Amino acid sequence: MALIVQKYGGTSVANPERIRKVAERVARFHQQGHQIVVVVSAMSGETDKLIRLAKEVQAVPDPRELDVVIATGEQVTIGLTAMALIAAGVPAVSYTGAQVRILTDESHTKARILEIDQHNMRADLDAGKVVVVAGFQGVNEHGAITTLGRGGSDTTGVALAAALNADECQIYTDVDGVYTTDPRVVPEARRLETVTFEEMLEMASMGSKVLQIRSVEFAGKYKVKLRVLSSFEDKNDGTLITFEEDPNMEKPIISGIAFNRDEAKLSLLGVPDRPGIAFAILGPIGEANIDVDMIIQNTSVDGLTDFSFTVHRNEFAKAMEILDAKIKPEIQAREVRGDNKICKVSLVGVGMRTHAGVASKMFSTLAHEGINIQMISTSEIKTSVVIDEKYMELAVRSLHRAFELDSPGAV
Ligand code: ADP
Ligand code: ASP
Ligand code: MG
Repeated sequence: MALIVQKYGGTSVANPERIRKVAERVARFHQQGHQIVVVVSAMSGETDKLIRLAKEVQAVPDPRELDVVIATGEQVTIGLTAMALIAAGVPAVSYTGAQVRILTDESHTKARILEIDQHNMRADLDAGKVVVVAGFQGVNEHGAITTLGRGGSDTTGVALAAALNADECQIYTDVDGVYTTDPRVVPEARRLETVTFEEMLEMASMGSKVLQIRSVEFAGKYKVKLRVLSSFEDKNDGTLITFEEDPNMEKPIISGIAFNRDEAKLSLLGVPDRPGIAFAILGPIGEANIDVDMIIQNTSVDGLTDFSFTVHRNEFAKAMEILDAKIKPEIQAREVRGDNKICKVSLVGVGMRTHAGVASKMFSTLAHEGINIQMISTSEIKTSVVIDEKYMELAVRSLHRAFELDSPGAV
């Protein structure tokens, strides 16, 4: 008998029929004698709808109240899923995040889980019930509802698996595993049988939304056995996230390609090249609570340099205003430029550690397609470039082919 956490995403609970299918799978596991905790997302499209609704009432919604609104999507699906289980003859009970007491910090709309009370869930599991928990939500120490950021139900699933010391956390979604890249963009993408935790972490942070990055961080911290599978068909075992690299196995140099259209680039031109300048630029940006991703500074010519960085697109307008109104006059830069039509494409693979030449092959492939590289950043197992958004698909497809990630037989 095992304790298994199964998380079902929005498309897997999109309508009553799909919810019944989820209940059928859960019932099968339950009949085999396993203890099951089910985590569900809101029905697909529901969270977007709730956010739109909130914005119609208040253009920039109050964060505390926004969480109250957007957490309702998951409250609907826990009730429906528990009903479908009961209708199938499986004893089940639903819990909101607050009812479990998934305690989070105070940061509304992007809260972090601090502690999970297992008491009630354990009692129900021991009584033979399936426990159905709302993903994406928690409660802070003042009793206010919090949410964990978009895609946060993955994190609820993995965090519950860690807290309950589950044997496995299964993430059921609308694709049958982690692919070499998003199979919706590159149909030739291949499913990976396994992917290392580090690679998954890079892929998630570089934009592959198949797993929310915090869920991968949790899995790594608590060594949760994590698998991504299809909720629509049982034809394979999906993708297992592994923690150890098999030293005897020849690793591919590149395991996957991630891309991200959520960033925007800001540049200050004609910046005086003197100590403290990076701080003078990025200090006020940080103070405004804006996260910076890539940063580049050129070597100076005649004491002047150019400085560029990227931020999330949602914060582009705010960051531009700070540069224009505050930083440019303060440091006497010549010009501010912004571009929110960029994207970041990243190659990820632990094999990069031992192979030189990945970056140059990436650059030559992009050059061959006439794609200009605007920024570059690297880590031990990742190489990223920023390019014009309109070339994203072309770049991902040509890199996928150049690094021989296509399925055998694909053109
Ligand atoms: P859920 O609603 O189940 O949480 P998501 O839409 O959040 O599902 O995540 C699944 C989607 O992630 C897939 O439909 C796919 O388009 C996308 N995706 C992006 N990169 C990858 C990848 N490398 N492998 C698999 N899916 C990916
Ligand atoms: N419903 C939330 C969202 O759409 C959480 C999730 O689906 O994981 O972001
Ligand atoms: Mg998701």
